[in-house]
Amino acid sequence: MQIPCTAREKELFKCVAQAARRIGVPCYLIGGFVRDKLLNRNTKDMDIVCVGDGIALAHEVAALLDPSLKVNFFKTFGTAQIRYKDVEIEFVGARKESYREHSRNPEVAPGSLEDDQLRRDFTINALAISLNEADYGQLLDPFSGLQDLEDKLIRTPLDPAQTFSDDPLRMMRAIRFASQLHFRIVPETFQAIKENAGRIRIISQERITDELNKIMLSSKPSVGLDLLYQSGLLKIIFPQMTDLVGVEMVEGKGHKDNFYHTLQVVDNISRHTRDLWLRWAALLHDIGKPATKRFEEGHGWTFHGHDAVGGKMVSRIFARLKLPQHDKMRFVRKLVELHLRPISLTKENITDSAIRRLLFDAGDDLEALMMLCEADITSKNKAKVKRYLENFEMVRERLKEVEESDRIRNWQPPVTGEMIMETFGLKPGRMVGEMKNAIREAILDGEIPNSYEAAYQYMLQKAKELDLTPVK
Ligand code: ATP
Repeated sequence: MQIPCTAREKELFKCVAQAARRIGVPCYLIGGFVRDKLLNRNTKDMDIVCVGDGIALAHEVAALLDPSLKVNFFKTFGTAQIRYKDVEIEFVGARKESYREHSRNPEVAPGSLEDDQLRRDFTINALAISLNEADYGQLLDPFSGLQDLEDKLIRTPLDPAQTFSDDPLRMMRAIRFASQLHFRIVPETFQAIKENAGRIRIISQERITDELNKIMLSSKPSVGLDLLYQSGLLKIIFPQMTDLVGVEMVEGKGHKDNFYHTLQVVDNISRHTRDLWLRWAALLHDIGKPATKRFEEGHGWTFHGHDAVGGKMVSRIFARLKLPQHDKMRFVRKLVELHLRPISLTKENITDSAIRRLLFDAGDDLEALMMLCEADITSKNKAKVKRYLENFEMVRERLKEVEESDRIRNWQPPVTGEMIMETFGLKPGRMVGEMKNAIREAILDGEIPNSYEAAYQYMLQKAKELDLTPVK
């Protein structure tokens, strides 16, 4: 079997084969590496399975490649890793796994190559290529994985219900591969995911979120997100998302289905960015809508305040999903909170001060925010889409003009809290905060220019109103 390989990879195969021969263990390339090579996808991580001691093989390979190479190994799992230049090679001894009803962990025993292929999750992940002299390069494909690769199918080698019940993470993996590779999950496999969805609860949040992020990073995340919904998994792992599903009708008036709208926004933004957190902002931009939904007589459906409510939900969702709590969460929260602001600037008679405020509030994330707003346009009416995009183009131009004249982005008011405290002999407290805010607001409103002198004079004037006198 010819697979597209670099010179370094070929050199590594030869070296592993030689090491395996020396210690007398048959060995094979297996899993994601073989799958991705056959699909012509970029892959760096090489998985090697040997019928024998994987850790011993790793040591032998390291000794041949470069005796100073470090071998990381995990005795309990019988696995070892070597990092050689930019390639990560993982070694494992072939094993047989059997699961018992009441234990999450399988009983593991040494096994044959076939046993090892049987414990793999999908037929496309069970393909092996021999590195042994007698049949070097031969593809060993007991479950027609190659055919499934060609037909773009995700299928379990064994009974799918058993496969998912044994290790429920495989349900997330099936959907992740469908989304990443644009493959279809065969009906009986998908049916088994639906029936076993509840078992996902025994999987750690970190592993679930890891798969969710891989779905979010696929080229069209809506594929995986919709499969998560259809299978019933989303309701369990991320109920705030399924709350977005559906259209309610009152007096013959409906609103758009916020779930499918959101999926489209995520796909739209994914065409322009690979930034995971910007994609997350798209996923969560309307998350506050179910909580703020109202039907107003004579007016229709409204979602007033869904930006602020959604912003508040972000930190809770990030905590529950064990996503990063600091910078990334703050970025997503900020975008969710601000996502209606550029739209409000498309109205007529927008003042410089409104533009200045957005520059100040968005700071360095302005471009990301504009991308989110553009992705948020999901109308099917081409003329409307064109008009909305032109409006945003005008907003971009106004932002640029005001930014050039005011330099307000990433701006700090020219008079700081320390200066206020020093001038009036104040301790940190409410008074200092109020003075600082008043100066900032006056500049953002365009009441005074953005200069030290003007801000200082304004501070003195404010102080007079508050009966404060300078100490020096
Ligand atoms: P990626 O590198 O994109 O995560 P991968 O298929 O290489 O995809 P790994 O987690 O590196 O994923 O796993 C390597 C191989 O191990 C898989 O191809 C599969 O054969 C097997 N495998 C991984 N996880 C499981 C699992 N939960 N159940 C069964 N087999 C698994």
